[in-house]
Amino acid sequence: MTFTPWIRNGIAALVGSLVLATAAQAGAPQLKTQAPGFYRMMLGDIEVTALFDGTLDLQPKQLLTNTTQKDVGKLLDKGFQKDTVQTSVNGYLINTGSKLVLVDTGAAGLFGPTAGNLLANLKASGYQPEQVDEVYITHMHPDHVGGLLADGKPAFPNAIVRADQHDADFWLSQATMEKAPKEVQGFFQGAMASLNPYVAAGKFKPFDGEAELVPGVRSFAARGHTPGHSIYAVESKGQKLVLWGDLMHVAAVQFAQPQVTISFDSDSKSAAIQRKKAYADAAKGGFLVAGAHLPFPGIGHIRAEGRGYIWVPVDYQQIR
Ligand SMILES: [Zn+2]
Repeated sequence: MTFTPWIRNGIAALVGSLVLATAAQAGAPQLKTQAPGFYRMMLGDIEVTALFDGTLDLQPKQLLTNTTQKDVGKLLDKGFQKDTVQTSVNGYLINTGSKLVLVDTGAAGLFGPTAGNLLANLKASGYQPEQVDEVYITHMHPDHVGGLLADGKPAFPNAIVRADQHDADFWLSQATMEKAPKEVQGFFQGAMASLNPYVAAGKFKPFDGEAELVPGVRSFAARGHTPGHSIYAVESKGQKLVLWGDLMHVAAVQFAQPQVTISFDSDSKSAAIQRKKAYADAAKGGFLVAGAHLPFPGIGHIRAEGRGYIWVPVDYQQIR
């Protein structure tokens, strides 16, 4: 049996495409891992490293208050978000040149398997936990204080830990915990477990509202989300970055509508007042801000637009 040349060529092409198909099936395995979670920038003479702790799946329609599910749904659609929003948990490592300061520590094991990577990312960013001189806590919820411990021991053995006295009085009080609803008692237990080893070692030094903590870093009271919720301003050579902690949680909703609150707020009216004030200051001052739950690295500017604000994240940059 003989094949005409065009049939021979056709068979060769068919065999060729079968070989290609087999090669595609045996391609490189997908890795499904992410880049190390740190982002670094200079703020004048101060080095700032955003550290990624992980994400939490939040359901804004269920959690947001002083709004309706319908309004939240509209804003989520506008932001290309689904009903469940993968929400970043961020900490910030500030190297002033003379002090290494960590603001918030992530959740460690207190908030499930999708968070708890801050310590690994601190190391990946080139630092060691022993080098941290001071840890500043925005408030004592588990996703901010859990990382104070690693394997049951202080994760930052040489650090002084600082937070507002009002948060310590509330979250570290056994009596207050016993009066609190069952479902939030775990928050108290998480705060006590994380802070008490530092308290016992004489390494917890609370402050009251506004204070210069180290040159270039100041605390300011922004109470409402918790009784002692604090924000921290970092300044160098005329540049400023304000670390907002949990002044806001859902970027797709709470920039457009600052009055929208969240069910985790201790006092949502005060939380909304503090949020509006911080937004107005940042928009007017044109300085950088960072949020513990803004999409990583969570650093950017905001601009007033209509009755709300627009979030403008920083560009990924080289350090010069
Ligand atoms: Zn939080």
